[in-house]
Amino acid sequence: MATNRTFTMIKPDAVEAGNIGNILKMITDGGFKIVAMKLTHLSETDAKKFYAVHAARPFYGELVEFMSRGPIVAAILEKENAVEDFRALIGATNPAEAAEGTIRKAYAKSIGENAVHGSDSDENAAIEAAFHFAGREIF
Ligand code: ADP
Repeated sequence: MATNRTFTMIKPDAVEAGNIGNILKMITDGGFKIVAMKLTHLSETDAKKFYAVHAARPFYGELVEFMSRGPIVAAILEKENAVEDFRALIGATNPAEAAEGTIRKAYAKSIGENAVHGSDSDENAAIEAAFHFAGREIF
């Protein structure tokens, strides 16, 4: 398996709850290397753009409002098989269905406020990383 990258955000609910450190520990304990990271804030316009793929979904307005309501941590992670392994580490979208040991099982509140984002493909990981980071910010 090739070493590759994925993109994550620690979402506003988890930042508000003081779980940045706990989640980063699960990420690094899971074998992921952080190659870019920042505490930042998505404007409503940013959140709309980032989640444009979900624009037709009934929860889009709620999602945009949630993701822009407070700071987030954005990061690029490196590991063999990064995208798939990180999706396994974060767990199901709905925390009620997330497996034991996953980040969402430990820290997500609901299907909407679910603590973390993880890219769903190599292609989206590259697009999402570029949305947040310029080349010189990636190590
Ligand atoms: P994932 O983040 O697990 O890849 P999706 O791509 O399906 O999940 O959805 C993107 C985000 O939209 C979710 O992480 C969650 O924050 C929000 N979301 C998904 N489904 C719902 C829903 N039924 N109600 C409210 N918010 C939702």
